[in-house]
Amino acid sequence: MTGTVDIETPVLIVGAGPVGLAMAGDLGWRGQACTAVEQTDGSIYQPRQDLVGIRTMEFCRRWGIAADVEASPYPRDYPQDNIYIAGSLAEGWEIGRYPAPAMADQRPPPQSPQRRERCPQNMFDPILRKFAQSFDSVDIRYRHRLTGFENADDGVVATVEKLETGETLRIGARFMVACDGAGSGIRRELDIPMIGNPALTYTTNVIFRHDGFEALHDKRPGYRFIFLGTAGTWATIVAINGRDQWRFSIVRSGDEPGEPSEQAIHAAIRRAVGADFDYEILSVLPWTRRALVAERYRAGSVFLAGDSAHAMSPTGGFGMNTGVGDAVDLCWKVDAALNGWAGDGLLDSYVVERRPVAERAVNEAAGNLGRMLSPGDNAHFLEDTPEGARVRTEVGARFSAAMKREWETLGMHLGYRYEGSPICVADGTPPTPDDPAIYIQTARPGSRAPHVRLADGRSTLDLFGRSFVLLCLGAGAPDPAPVAAAAGRRGMPLEVIRLDEPDAKPAYERRLVLVRPDGHVAWRGDAVPANADAVIDTVRGAR
Ligand SMILES: Cc1cc2nc3c(=O)[nH]c(=O)nc-3n(C[C@H](O)[C@H](O)[C@H](O)COP(=O)(O)OP(=O)(O)OC[C@H]3O[C@@H](n4cnc5c(N)ncnc54)[C@H](O)[C@@H]3O)c2cc1C
Repeated sequence: MTGTVDIETPVLIVGAGPVGLAMAGDLGWRGQACTAVEQTDGSIYQPRQDLVGIRTMEFCRRWGIAADVEASPYPRDYPQDNIYIAGSLAEGWEIGRYPAPAMADQRPPPQSPQRRERCPQNMFDPILRKFAQSFDSVDIRYRHRLTGFENADDGVVATVEKLETGETLRIGARFMVACDGAGSGIRRELDIPMIGNPALTYTTNVIFRHDGFEALHDKRPGYRFIFLGTAGTWATIVAINGRDQWRFSIVRSGDEPGEPSEQAIHAAIRRAVGADFDYEILSVLPWTRRALVAERYRAGSVFLAGDSAHAMSPTGGFGMNTGVGDAVDLCWKVDAALNGWAGDGLLDSYVVERRPVAERAVNEAAGNLGRMLSPGDNAHFLEDTPEGARVRTEVGARFSAAMKREWETLGMHLGYRYEGSPICVADGTPPTPDDPAIYIQTARPGSRAPHVRLADGRSTLDLFGRSFVLLCLGAGAPDPAPVAAAAGRRGMPLEVIRLDEPDAKPAYERRLVLVRPDGHVAWRGDAVPANADAVIDTVRGAR
C-alpha cells in the first residue's frame, strides 16, 4: 500500500444502512474501533424494511436495544392482517384474509424470548445508529462517499470524498466491509459476479400520505392489502407507519422495464382504492426485484455483507434480517482476527456459513413472489355475477392457502444452520427438518443454541455473545478444565457456565456444549474431548 493516510481504523464500513449500522454497533459492543462512511445524511425517505425478524430481535436483545424497537412509534394496536382484494378496496370484494394480531397482542413463541417486530426502517435505523454511536470507538461519518480503494492481503486504503467540502480523505483499514447495498460499487470494482435472476419484476413504490384511509372503504384494516385483477396480482398497499403513510407498490413482470408516469401512478392508486381522495405523494422509488447471491463474499481484505452480497424479493421480509445475520457472523470473526486468536481459516468461514443462508432466503423469497403472482389471468374474476362469485371464492381459497407460507416463517428466521461449516465439529446426529414455518430447537453443532427460560427469568440466549461459552449442563457434567485450558493456550476467550436447570439439559441434549460468540453451537459432547486442543483449533478456524 502506498502513501500516507488521514485516518487509520481497524475496520472501515462502507454504507450505514441497517447492515452497516449493525456491523458498526456489534464491533463497538465488542470493544473494537471502526469507521463507517455513508454518502447520505442518514434520512430515510423510502422506508423499505419494516419486519424486524425474530432472530434480529434476539440480537437486539443482546445489544440491549430490544426495548427501543418494541417502543418504536409504530402503533402497537394496529392490526397486522394480510388481506386479498378482488378489484378495489371501495368497490371490490375481500376474497381472503390472514388474520394477525396487533404487535401489542403478539407473544414470543416458546422457542424464543423475543417476538418479531413491526418497525419500519425510518424508525429502526435510528435505533441502530444510536446504539452504534453509543460507543466511543465507533466513528460514523455521514455525507462521506467512498470513491476508490486499494485492496491488499494486509489491508485497504480507501479514498473517501467529504461531500460537504469536496475534500478527499485517505482511510487506511485492516479490513473493509462493503455494506453499500444492492448496487454495490465495491462489489463491481472487485469484479465479483452475482449469480441468479437479475429481474424477477419491475416495481414502483409510492409512499403517500392520507389521514383516515380506513374511512375510504368498507374492509377491516390490516397491514397489507394485495390487489388482484383479471390479469392477476398487480399491486399492494402496506400500512407503512400504521397511521397516515401508505406504501403503494405497482408490480410489473420482469419483461416490463420502465417507469410509470405520474399520471399512471395516480390512476393506479385510484384503481386500487376505488375512490377519489386527496393524498400527498412523499416519494417514488422504481426498483427491480432480484434473486441474486454474490459468487464470493471476500476478496483480500474486503468483505461483502447485506444487500451487496445478496438481493432478494422483499416477499417474506428476509433481506435486512439476512444482512444483520451476516454482520453478526462477520463481527466476532473480525474481532478474533484483530485480537490475534483467529486461525487462518476463521475469516473464510464467513462465506462458507453465510452464502448458503442467503441462497436459502433468496429462493424462499422468490417462491413467495411466485405464490403472490400465482392467480394469473381470469376473465370472470371481477364480474358481479354468480360465475364471478364462484371464481373469486375458488381463487380466494387457493390464494389464501398459498400465501400462508409467506406469513408463517419461524423456521426461516431461526432455523438456518451452518451445515458443513469448517469451524463447527459435526457430531453425526441427523439434522432437524428445514421447514420455513416450523422451527425445532436443537443444539446440534452449527445450529442456533436453544432458548430455555432460566429460574432467574433470563434466557439461555442471555448467556451468549461476548466470548465462547462452554455450558456444563446438569450436576454430573464433567470437569471442563481441559477445554478451558486449551482455549487459554490459544488466547481464545471462553467463559465456563454451569447450568443445573431442569429444562436446559433436555434442550441441549449433551453435558458439555460449546457456544460461539454469535450464539451458534460449535461443539457438544457428554465427555471432555480426547483432544481438546484440536476442538479449540477447529472452532477458531486454525485447522
Ligand atoms: C419494498 C421493500 C420492503 C422490504 N421489506 C423488508 C423487511 O420487511 N424485512 C427485511 O429484512 N428486509 C426488507 N427489505 C430489504 C431491505 O430493505 C434490505 O435488505 C436492506 O435495506 C439492506 O440493507 P443494507 O444495509 O445491506 O443496504 P442498504 O439499506 O441499501 O444501505 C446501503 C447504504 O450504503 C450507502 N452507500 C452506497 N454506496 C456508497 C458509497 N460509495 N459511499 C458511502 N456510502 C455508500 C447507501 O447510501 C446506503 O445508505 C425490503 C426491501 C424493499 C425494497
